[in-house]
Amino acid sequence: MSVLVHECRTCGHNATWHESRERAYTACRCCIAGTADPDPEPTLRPTWTSPGGRLEPLAPPGTVRNERTMHQTVTCDCEACRAAYDHHSTRSP
Ligand SMILES: [Zn+2]
Ligand SMILES: [Zn+2]
Ligand SMILES: [Zn+2]
Repeated sequence: MSVLVHECRTCGHNATWHESRERAYTACRCCIAGTADPDPEPTLRPTWTSPGGRLEPLAPPGTVRNERTMHQTVTCDCEACRAAYDHHSTRSP
C-alpha cells in the first residue's frame, strides 16, 4: 500500500523511525538520537503491485498497517495528511 509519511528534515527518514520502538532497526545517528524534525507536509511513498507494476492504493489516514506484528504502524491522520489523501485519492482513477 502507498503511504503518506512525514520525513525528518535532518536525515530524510520517516519521522516515526525516531521513536524508541522503531529506532532499534536503523543505524542512522539522527534516528537513534530520537529527535526528529518532521516536515509538516507529508511525502507520498508509493508502492507498486508485484507483479503488475501498478500503483497501489493510498492508505487512508489512521490506517493500521502490519497489524499484530512487531512492525505495526498507524498512518498519520493529521490535517495535512488528510488533505494530501483527498488530493491523491480524487486524482487517481
Ligand atoms: Zn532524523
Ligand atoms: Zn534518520
Ligand atoms: Zn500527518
